[in-house]
Amino acid sequence: MAINCENCKAYCCRVIGKIVPELDRGDCACIHLTEDNKCEIYENRPFICNTDRIYKKYFSNKYTIEQWNELNHKACEELKNDEEQQYKEQGQKDS
Ligand code: SF4
Ligand code: SF4
Repeated sequence: MAINCENCKAYCCRVIGKIVPELDRGDCACIHLTEDNKCEIYENRPFICNTDRIYKKYFSNKYTIEQWNELNHKACEELKNDEEQQYKEQGQKDS
C-alpha cells in the first residue's frame, strides 16, 4: 500500500524538529510546513523526508517496493496514533 498523505495532518512534519533541529520552527514542527499541512519545498525536500530516495539508496536490495511502502504506512499509523493520544492528553490537561 502506497502512503497517502491526503488526509493526514502531516504528523511526520510536526515532529521532524526532534531529529533534525535545523528544520525546527520552535515547536518541533518543520519550518517548511504550511498552514494547510503541505510542504512548501516538496520537490526539493531533504533526503530524510523523501522515502523514494531513501528506498533507492539503502533499502531496494532488502525490500520490495510494496514491503517498503507497507513499512512506511505502518510507521505513519503508529505516529498518528501516538500524536493523537498526546493531543488528547494535552486537551485533558488544558481543560
Ligand atoms: S505521517 Fe505519513 S501519511 Fe502523514 S504526512 Fe507524514 S508521510 Fe504522509
Ligand atoms: S521539509 Fe517538507 S516534508 Fe520535510 S518535514 Fe518539512 S514540511 Fe515535511
